[in-house]
Amino acid sequence: MTTLDPRAPLVLDTRQLQRRPGTMLEVARTVPAPEGLGTDVIGIGEGEPLELDLRLESVIEGVLVSGSVRGRATGACVRCLEPVEEDLDVSVQELFAYADRAAHHQEVGADEDDDQRVLQGDLLDLEPVIRDSVVPALPFQPVCRPDCPGLCSECGARLADDPDHHHESIDPRWATLQQLASTDGSVTHTTEEKRN
Ligand SMILES: [Zn+2]
Ligand SMILES: [Zn+2]
Repeated sequence: MTTLDPRAPLVLDTRQLQRRPGTMLEVARTVPAPEGLGTDVIGIGEGEPLELDLRLESVIEGVLVSGSVRGRATGACVRCLEPVEEDLDVSVQELFAYADRAAHHQEVGADEDDDQRVLQGDLLDLEPVIRDSVVPALPFQPVCRPDCPGLCSECGARLADDPDHHHESIDPRWATLQQLASTDGSVTHTTEEKRN
């Protein structure tokens, strides 16, 4: 485990709680989003503001973090590639166990839980918690609007801008003749006649 930097924006210091169950600490701050907070198609850009509104509660086992994380995700519509923005407001709740408690927990082999978060001294790292809450809250396939018609499969035009957009469809049989025309000039005439 890497050593946490107490000055990192997503590292919280719980010293004020003094390991006294029942003590509470409120944390409201805006921090720059860490990198990689999203999927291939949408996410909160690195350095974009993340609003944290959290409550840190001292409990027997450690520190319970709960509250909300807000930010604006940006991405592209999967149908037409127009920019998409989505305001996120996700709730988080996570127990950070005291290191000595966590060690004991593992010794007795109770409920093997690799995902357990552990305090480093008085410090806790919120970044993995935020990632685990924000990423699943993002739309799997973001769209600019629910009925986005997407792009024209023939020319790539955005159909929302031009709903009547269409191309003269060529009968597949004539399309074959057209192909022939490029190698055999004799059918060119017929093809053009039919298309007009
Ligand atoms: Zn779209
Ligand atoms: Zn088109």
